[in-house]
Amino acid sequence: MNFCEGCNIACDDERCPKCGSKKLRPVNDDDFCLIAQVDRPFGDSLKEYLEEENMEYALMPYGRGVRARFALPLESYLVYVRYKNSDHVRQILKDTNARI
Ligand SMILES: [Zn+2]
Repeated sequence: MNFCEGCNIACDDERCPKCGSKKLRPVNDDDFCLIAQVDRPFGDSLKEYLEEENMEYALMPYGRGVRARFALPLESYLVYVRYKNSDHVRQILKDTNARI
């Protein structure tokens, strides 16, 4: 698995799916990876869950300008977790029908 330091994305490809960079390095267990975009109420409950599970995370509020142009949900977060936890959290997101 490779990792783009610019986007915090782990991917199988040689190229980052987001920025197209080829300057990827092998991912480490402790790298923070962007795994999803969720709306705010869901993000808040996810936060509680991750705290209960003692998993480190970062939730970044997602840009307003982009939101207005593409009519995305009013409030959303980008979700980052450590690579070692990412499969687990992805599964939770899948089970709860969150969008990526
Ligand atoms: Zn990238």
